[in-house]
Amino acid sequence: MSIVVPVYNEQPNIEKFYEEATKAAVTLDMDYEIIFVDDGSKDATPLILSRLTQQDEHVRAFILARNFGHQLAITCGMDHALGDAVITMDGDLQHPPSMIPELVQKWREGNDVVQTIREATDDAGFLKRMTSKWYYRILNAVSPVHITPGGSDFRLIDKRVLETFKQFREHDRFIRGLIGDIGYTQTFIH
Ligand code: UDP
Ligand code: MG
Repeated sequence: MSIVVPVYNEQPNIEKFYEEATKAAVTLDMDYEIIFVDDGSKDATPLILSRLTQQDEHVRAFILARNFGHQLAITCGMDHALGDAVITMDGDLQHPPSMIPELVQKWREGNDVVQTIREATDDAGFLKRMTSKWYYRILNAVSPVHITPGGSDFRLIDKRVLETFKQFREHDRFIRGLIGDIGYTQTFIH
């Protein structure tokens, strides 16, 4: 299992993320790697990553030459993933590592894509809920590619999907749209 994590100025969160992701990964009963992609951080993120790669052979790190943005940082990690499946997730703990076994379970049941969906919470605030709702409404009205509301880049994809995904080389990309439209057997976790 490859776990791909883009990080930009995540100095306060990386070690906690690493601990929680490791705790989840060791329960999987399979070999795993955690691939961090540093997206041009200006804090101690690359230093922490360098130390983690020395401490733990499960950790790999790519340090990008400058900030390229979340989507390209994820792409870098996906391009280098070696697993039979790849999980992408944020490094700021907004995507709970404790959910990793549930994603893997759905994959073992035969799903090629396991997409998580963020539940709207009351604490999101009125403005955030309204702008989010209309964002997806308008996007889906103007584009033939359906984008699931509340989707995120916290998902698992099988290696077969990864191989197809790698053939898309757009620089300015919206991975949610590419994966949502890629086919294969897809399922969702709320
Ligand atoms: N991130 C990145 N490059 C950027 C901005 C963010 O790699 O230019 C990383 C960030 O460290 C985090 C993930 O991408 O792990 C999501 O970013 P953020 O938390 O800012 O997004 P949001 O929570 O607002 O969706
Ligand atoms: Mg975040």
